[in-house]
Amino acid sequence: MQTTDVENYPGYSDGIMGPEMMEDFRKQAERMGADLRTGFVTKVEFSRDGGTHKVWVDDKKEIHAETVIISTGATAKWLGLESEIRLRDNGGGVSACAVCDGFFYRGREVAIVGGGDTAAEEALYLANLCPTVHMFVRRDVMRASKVMQQRVFNAENIKMYWNTEVNTVLGEDEIEAVRVINNKTQELTDIAVDGLFIAIGHKPNTDIFKDWLDMDSEGYLITQADSTKTNIAGVFVGGDAQDKIYRQAVTAAGTGCMAALDAERYISHKEFMAEEAAKLVN
Ligand code: NDP
Repeated sequence: MQTTDVENYPGYSDGIMGPEMMEDFRKQAERMGADLRTGFVTKVEFSRDGGTHKVWVDDKKEIHAETVIISTGATAKWLGLESEIRLRDNGGGVSACAVCDGFFYRGREVAIVGGGDTAAEEALYLANLCPTVHMFVRRDVMRASKVMQQRVFNAENIKMYWNTEVNTVLGEDEIEAVRVINNKTQELTDIAVDGLFIAIGHKPNTDIFKDWLDMDSEGYLITQADSTKTNIAGVFVGGDAQDKIYRQAVTAAGTGCMAALDAERYISHKEFMAEEAAKLVN
């Protein structure tokens, strides 16, 4: 819902706007009989013994279900600068996804913020499209794995700026340059760019599940091998709430489909077991 142009979802040969794609998804789901309702889930109470799960919407409406599929996604972290948020919101050249938006900057100068694996991967992706990638790392080392760091250092058109943070993104409606500050010397430098990519991590939207579901130290939900099953029977998860590696609409749709199949099998199995138990009683 929150992204603008989507160029990499199969089937849309001319690309599509995020909200328009979601409207297509909604219509298709409704045609198949899905009952779609909107609201914020504020509380959950999952059954630990295979019973009915409870979900509260907007603190009032209580919904009971045999299965729950969680697909609450992850939110990109931003630096929080006024200039950054303004140019992000008006499509002025600030983005948190090089794989989604890098294409628009083919042949142009770009910069990237971050020193983790995502930043390294995205810098390498951009280096294939752009003449120069200016990479700002706030410490004098990168957090990324050694192999990713080496690949970044080997790329001739990635220019590293150590101990460097973004001070202001310059430009009214479109980005013109990034003003960076060296946090050791306090020296300010303006670097002309056409695009700025923020790659400082994501936060999965899983806080309301923390008393119930297993998650890693960053909050990504943990699934059992080769499935979308969580540690609670009947609760499944698809999309970025459990995926910190791929994070694409198409991979989220794929794991969403897996979760639907897992949920359907869970219900069929439960019904079968109930029928068998009834036979034994009779
Ligand atoms: P990380 O949390 O690993 O890295 C975030 C980076 O952004 C760090 O370098 C951090 O700096 C920097 N940062 C954070 N906040 C700011 C800020 N306000 N200003 C400037 N810099 C900032 O996030 P990633 O998204 O890179 O990775 C998340 C996880 O996903 C990791 O476990 C990673 O290994 C994994 N991953 C693996 C991939 C692969 O295997 N191919 C690809 C992508 C991700 P500092 O180090 O100083 O804290």
